[in-house]
Amino acid sequence: MTTAAKRIEIQSQKRLGALMRAHFLDLDEASRDPSRRVAWCTSVGPCEILTAMGFDVYFPENHGALLGARRVSHELIPRAVGAGYSAESCSYMTSDIGSTLAGVSPLTDAFGIAGPPKPDLLVYSTNQCREVQDWWNFYGRRDGIPVMGICPPGHLGEVTSEHVAFVSGRMQRMIEEIENKFALRMDYDRLSEVVALSSRASALWGSVLDTAKARPAAMTFFDGAIHMAPVILMRGSQTAIDYYKSLLTELSQRVENGIGAIPDERFRVYWDGMPIWPKVRELAEKFYDLRTVVAASTYCNSWAFDEFDGGDPLDWMARSSIELFINRDENTKQRFLAQMFDRFEIDGAIFHNARTCPNNTNSRFGMPQRIRAELDMPSLVIDGDLSDVRFFSTAQTMTNIEAFVEQLEERQR
Ligand code: SF4
Repeated sequence: MTTAAKRIEIQSQKRLGALMRAHFLDLDEASRDPSRRVAWCTSVGPCEILTAMGFDVYFPENHGALLGARRVSHELIPRAVGAGYSAESCSYMTSDIGSTLAGVSPLTDAFGIAGPPKPDLLVYSTNQCREVQDWWNFYGRRDGIPVMGICPPGHLGEVTSEHVAFVSGRMQRMIEEIENKFALRMDYDRLSEVVALSSRASALWGSVLDTAKARPAAMTFFDGAIHMAPVILMRGSQTAIDYYKSLLTELSQRVENGIGAIPDERFRVYWDGMPIWPKVRELAEKFYDLRTVVAASTYCNSWAFDEFDGGDPLDWMARSSIELFINRDENTKQRFLAQMFDRFEIDGAIFHNARTCPNNTNSRFGMPQRIRAELDMPSLVIDGDLSDVRFFSTAQTMTNIEAFVEQLEERQR
């Protein structure tokens, strides 16, 4: 069964394209301007410290996603394998390293620049995975660039004040290392300002995602995967805040007027795990045709933090960075999922078993079975990958999704 109604595009997307272009052109300029410094940072790393100290910040995971979305990862990964990086390890990392070794980047086609900006400093946090440490160290070793990292306690149940103090202390030490290395001084008022901007954008992003609570949902996970770019790449800037204010206005208008991302929505499902970037469009179309909205996801919510309400900015950064879903134990993750299922009135959950990202895959330790048994939530596990298309079978997956939606239909009868 396919839906006859026409999809109404989110108008803000046009503005997003211009923002992304300006962002990457500016980064490119920064890397060629001797008076500016570029730092690479992990997507949920301590980027506010870098911004407050005057660095232009670049996020390589976005490049990994772009390589996946442009369907070139599988051609580049063999270059990284040749350099000793397993094809079974993070395909963001291997495709990014492969792209550097091959001297090609989708940023050239997209924005007319040679590739990612050359870094002066590489900063990571292993709050998401250890792979980022190895990824950054590849560039550190190869190009002699300083690498600094924070290794917070992982897989936490309760997050205690001791955990926060430990991470905040590590951040303080990192600030001192940067001060010494680059002859800089941290302005802590500026840090508070950047954290306030960053958390404001995050909170607005959370409100944007919440518009999918409406019936019909104003946006889908696939829209979210596109519109999340500013909350990652432009965190700590007024630009990100302005963008989400206008996106929120547009989506709230949709809610008010009863306009859905999928006009004749029948079912609402949850997506857990990484997007399958090379197949985002095909999957979005499949769910559209099945009149099933992917209303919420763990992934898009990873950047929806609580707002900073004053106090020590490092404490806010430390707490946000370790309270992340990916950094929690199974019981905490299950409680979070249960809450999301309730808030978004979810009918079924899809788990993406991403071959090269065990860290952001939650189907490997009985979660789908537990939510079925304890929450009566139907679930489906899809085998695939975030970037490497070789681990994904389109025919098999589409058949499984159709069968899953039929199962939801059965339950409704
Ligand atoms: S969380 Fe997964 S996808 Fe992201 S960098 Fe780590 S291994 Fe790669």
